Amino acid sequence: MQVRNIIDKLYNTTNASREELLFLLDNLSEENKEYLIEKSHEVALKNYGNNIYIRGLIEFTNHCIRDCRYCGIRKSNDKADRYRLTVEEILECADIGDRLGYKTYVLQGGEDPYFTDEKMVEIIKKIKEKYPNNAITLSLGERSYKSYELMFNAGADRYLLRHETASRRLYESLHPNSKFENRIQCLRNLKEIGYQIGAGFMVGLPNQNNSDLVEDLIFLKELNPHMCGIGPFIPHKDTPLANEEGGTLEKTTTMLALIRLMLPKILLPATTALGSIDPLGREKGLKAGGNVVMPNLSPTSVREKYSLYDGKICTGDEAAECRACIERRINNAGFNLEITRGDSLVLSDKEREKINNKLINNKNNEIRLDNIFLIN
Ligand code: SAM
Repeated sequence: MQVRNIIDKLYNTTNASREELLFLLDNLSEENKEYLIEKSHEVALKNYGNNIYIRGLIEFTNHCIRDCRYCGIRKSNDKADRYRLTVEEILECADIGDRLGYKTYVLQGGEDPYFTDEKMVEIIKKIKEKYPNNAITLSLGERSYKSYELMFNAGADRYLLRHETASRRLYESLHPNSKFENRIQCLRNLKEIGYQIGAGFMVGLPNQNNSDLVEDLIFLKELNPHMCGIGPFIPHKDTPLANEEGGTLEKTTTMLALIRLMLPKILLPATTALGSIDPLGREKGLKAGGNVVMPNLSPTSVREKYSLYDGKICTGDEAAECRACIERRINNAGFNLEITRGDSLVLSDKEREKINNKLINNKNNEIRLDNIFLIN
């Protein structure tokens, strides 16, 4: 077996066996890593061109009933300064976002029972009434089928639910009050309901080995999600994993590149966590096959409080500053920032046509040429 041949096989067929993927991860030299990045970048360009999509992230609550051992907003962290945005504050973020050219909002929070189905439906409907052509991505953790369905029917388009790790052993050691099967079932439910779904995992978790990462790749290949959020694990000082080592830029970009080769049409964010462990982390993520960035739209007053890990970047910048900064960075890295909803190419032509028709039918809204261009 040769690493270079496995990369070529992935590039040509999008497939590799467990054994080949493990061999590649165990034996990746600097030179072959460069080749891998080159190939993944080529595949990203072939599918999405030079364009990077932006999503405006609204971190609307840091209350959480879960106790994930790595996470700074876990239930048992008494030091977390808890907050919830009001409906009005969330709508204000949406207004600012639209003005700044965000055509997708990501509403993310801890698992907070305060935000009942009724409340979420109200928020989704209010945003959609005002901005029918903007997409709403939810990231609220595990909820019932019925709840996902209600929110989808209210107008939510996409749902991010990282599977965190496809290794049951690792999952169980990190999540004292969440079941592996349920998390995976939630992803399948979301897909069945009709959401564009995002899975994802952390790189460099304590006790994670290359075989575990291979399981992540195989799992993603089988699930075929529309998006995949991966980032390095970064310790948070007030969690049980405070003294563990974090994930590296090297390993995270390797995983990004492999996902791009295995799932060429996937949307792949260069995450804030990657930008937090290296000043040029997001740019390096984009060069490794990434094609999405998610700058922060949350009010600056709560940014520090949504503290999942130590050293998170961009906690002091106003939304407009973040927007300008990210565009500068994207351009400097040789990419172009694309102002559209940025739907996934994993969608079938029929699904894309359906979205297109819905946008055209939103008669109160100006039809943007760039939306039509994208959907077609
Ligand atoms: N509650 C929702 C959920 O469970 O999907 C969304 C919010 S959750 C805080 C968002 C993501 O943050 C998680 O999926 C996890 O991968 C990531 N995260 C949490 N703690 C982290 C850490 N210490 N380092 C890196 N990423 C972390």
